[in-house]
Amino acid sequence: MYQSFKDFLQDELDGIREAGLYKNERIIVSPQEAVIRLKDGRQVLNFCANNYLGLSNHPALIEAAGNALRERGYGMSSVRFICGTQDLHKDLEAAIARFFGTEDTILYAACFDANGGVFEPLLGEEDAIISDALNHASIIDGVRLCKAQRYRYANADMDDLEKQLQAAQAQRYRLIVTDGVFSMDGNVAPLDRIYALANQYNAMVMVDESHSAGVVGATGKGVTEQYNLRGKIEIITGTLGKAFGGAIGGFTTGKKEIIQLLRQRSRPYLFSNSLPPMVVAAGIRAFQLMEASTLLQDKLHQNTAYFIERMGQSGFDIKPTQSAICAVMLYDARLAQEMAAKLLDEGIYVTGFYYPVVPQGKARIRVQVSAGHEKEHLDSCIAAFAKIGKELKVIPA
Ligand SMILES: *Cc1c(COP(=O)(O)O)cnc(C)c1O
Repeated sequence: MYQSFKDFLQDELDGIREAGLYKNERIIVSPQEAVIRLKDGRQVLNFCANNYLGLSNHPALIEAAGNALRERGYGMSSVRFICGTQDLHKDLEAAIARFFGTEDTILYAACFDANGGVFEPLLGEEDAIISDALNHASIIDGVRLCKAQRYRYANADMDDLEKQLQAAQAQRYRLIVTDGVFSMDGNVAPLDRIYALANQYNAMVMVDESHSAGVVGATGKGVTEQYNLRGKIEIITGTLGKAFGGAIGGFTTGKKEIIQLLRQRSRPYLFSNSLPPMVVAAGIRAFQLMEASTLLQDKLHQNTAYFIERMGQSGFDIKPTQSAICAVMLYDARLAQEMAAKLLDEGIYVTGFYYPVVPQGKARIRVQVSAGHEKEHLDSCIAAFAKIGKELKVIPA
């Protein structure tokens, strides 16, 4: 049978290539940080990692991970409830709850698993999930695994959310679900208005803080800090794979009864391995750093503000952002691809995004600013954008 299946797969792959959607992976041979080395020998400035606080190769995290590796070993060889829980896991769960001002936390192998395992144990057929149309794929998949009735509202559109809430009034329990920061535009979900509508229409709220935690809010504690809603949101999910060290791991944090039930019934928690001690220890260290000072968060905010101001002065069209995601709008897919390639030749590593990742005619280059960037890195990036922007007539010469 495989011969015919192989032909079928080859056709699929050819189709992806012909549509210009085939994803190639660039090989990096250095640690993840502001300056990275590629396998072809090039050294480039990295502006496309989710390394928002510059912790991916931070000495304090490496030391914590190294100590835990020596003292607590490499792997746990178990799920949490059999023999996979060390004191470190409990400490990290407590640190995450302190950071978000929540009651309890449950760790997962990734936020993909946190979102995959959050809906099905909590809600049933008689309930409703009301989800933003631009929510992350893992939320969409998690919702698919749950029998609750599904409602969708246009991205951050509060009139539409209200309509969906009205339509969902017959259901028993209602849960509104949103990303904290949407990864293509960098816009923050209007959580103040979502929360008000939730109260008005008797619903609960879940926020995925993957792109917002460590970034958004006066001290980087996420969208609940930005909107003064700490401790008021029932469910928050997030990742250790972005601002908090960038290794691996996810979590759900919130009301303690919710977390307790997830420990009993959430399938990616019950049937998947426990996080390795070194990752957990480095995670604890990341939260200690953020508790001790807001140096990294402040630097990220300064870097982002500086980058946006200078790029605007150069004449680039930057989507309004409240996060560290800066969408440089080019509108044309080919232009976005060409510009990203030319920027790489200038030593700036950024990614072009175009349909179907973003709407047709809304192609862009996404720049992700980090606390790991120094001023000279930002200046080099801005200068390269200006040079190539003029060359490609994106900005006036
Ligand atoms: C990155 C991301 C995830 C996935 O996180 P992992 O820990 O890498 O699985 C989930 N949700 C959102 C909104 C994300 O941006």
